[in-house]
Amino acid sequence: METCFLWGLSGRVVLPWDPSYNKDRQGFNRAAQSYPFIINYCQTPRDVSNAILWARRNGVEIRIRNGGHNYEGYSSGNGVLVIDVSDMTGIEMDEQAHTVRVQGGVTNKQLYEFVAAQGYPFPGGTCPTVGVCGYALGGGWGLSCRAFGLGCDSIEEIELVNYEGRVIRASSRINCDLFWALRGAGGGNFGVVTSVTFRLPPPVQRVTLIEIDYRHVDAKTQELFLWMWQQWLRQADNRMTLLARIYNSDADGLAALVRGIFYGEPEEAHAMLYGFLSIPGAVPSIESMSFLQAVARLGSAYPAYERFRAASRFVFRDFCPCEIREIVSLIQERPAGSVFAGISLYALGGQVAETGRDETAFFYRNAHYILWLESVFEENRFAAASSLWVSKRLGLLKSLTRGSYVNFPYAGLGDFKWEYFGAHEKRLELIKRKYDPRDVFTFPQGLARREKKAPFRLTQVPTVFGGTEFTVQAAKEKKNHRGFRYVSPQA
Ligand SMILES: Cc1cc2nc3c(=O)[nH]c(=O)nc-3n(C[C@H](O)[C@H](O)[C@H](O)COP(=O)(O)OP(=O)(O)OC[C@H]3O[C@@H](n4cnc5c(N)ncnc54)[C@H](O)[C@@H]3O)c2cc1C
Repeated sequence: METCFLWGLSGRVVLPWDPSYNKDRQGFNRAAQSYPFIINYCQTPRDVSNAILWARRNGVEIRIRNGGHNYEGYSSGNGVLVIDVSDMTGIEMDEQAHTVRVQGGVTNKQLYEFVAAQGYPFPGGTCPTVGVCGYALGGGWGLSCRAFGLGCDSIEEIELVNYEGRVIRASSRINCDLFWALRGAGGGNFGVVTSVTFRLPPPVQRVTLIEIDYRHVDAKTQELFLWMWQQWLRQADNRMTLLARIYNSDADGLAALVRGIFYGEPEEAHAMLYGFLSIPGAVPSIESMSFLQAVARLGSAYPAYERFRAASRFVFRDFCPCEIREIVSLIQERPAGSVFAGISLYALGGQVAETGRDETAFFYRNAHYILWLESVFEENRFAAASSLWVSKRLGLLKSLTRGSYVNFPYAGLGDFKWEYFGAHEKRLELIKRKYDPRDVFTFPQGLARREKKAPFRLTQVPTVFGGTEFTVQAAKEKKNHRGFRYVSPQA
């Protein structure tokens, strides 16, 4: 195959006729399918720069990718050049400065293992294969956030390759406006981030991992559970961050769970969790362990990929019993083909709220928690049913909440810039115009003035390149969705 059109690119290149293309083009959410023109695995900032300049010369749209976990698949697209930084996995610690510098391709798991080996925790995310940069550029909620802030709150400096292919830096001293924007609205918008320097939290010996399960309960118990969540959050200790979920699944029927990390002893955690533990059917596991053991156990729940539709909202107030009943009613029926339908609650407050609303681009500092509605299915023919299910339920949720979390994006949002960035929208647009005046970095819900049309319309891989074969393989795949339980029912 003649490949001189690739002249100017460096690093590793995967094309539609390469054997690995079907694997390489896909992200975590297999419900989002797209067919890029070129996937360019970059090893250095120079490779990234070459890719940007090549795309501009050839009029090909760019997408930036690391872990591929964007819910809507916005780190790829049809006919685009994907600049993939997942080969750039260097990490270095400066103990004197109390910082850790990660290259653009590092994942949560890689960073956790590195810092934990030196005795440090890190305010990263729950899924081990999520990219640290993508996570922190969108804010970064994790089970240490009430103790140490969002992922973006620990950022000291960011290095990126800009629209001209030049390496630039952003920090509180240099390109301060860009630094502000990158912390909450940075993913895919301003350039390709090739490294981020984070301030380290204080070292820890041990943490308490919290797991409480309630399986095969009823809607009334789920209502009581949401009531307890509000009680807990009202007086929660900053050292404890929880994720709570009510759900309806093939495996567990109507159910609920709590997961969390507490920077303290299990006995103290027990007392703080009294409300949750008093709900009938609670099966708790509240154990002291190393930080690495805790995040590894939490991370073990995630499969290599899933198929889902989901939407997120921010909650700013307590709900009354009637509102709680309405929320619980949303998941009593699953859409056709759905194996799991749930509402997850991600606690905010604590150190998240200590940073001022206008100090970073992350707008919803004062929200109590993030609410996430989701339906998981095993075959893409059920995607439309789950999409409809989510969109029908969003009306009620919108009437009770405000805004959406950009790291949990939803394609169905009307005014998405307003939903993700609130009153920061206009300031972000100005910064976008200053640092990417030609809208070189675009995606369907990006800050660019308009989404460019891809000149290459590759919507399906021709059979000769393995497209049909892939379809057959997909149909044969076994179940692949989260195993939500870690504690044994007898525990
Ligand atoms: C199973 C699962 C669990 C998750 N858990 C959490 C969680 O606990 N907390 C949370 O806050 N979020 C969570 N997320 C969301 C996740 O943090 C975001 O989707 C994040 O942006 C993913 O980054 P990525 O590199 O893995 O994905 P990608 O799809 O590769 O990238 C996501 C976005 O960031 C941009 N981006 C990625 N790398 C760079 C870079 N180097 N330079 C510039 N832009 C870049 C991409 O262009 C894209 O817009 C979860 C997602 C999944 C699928």
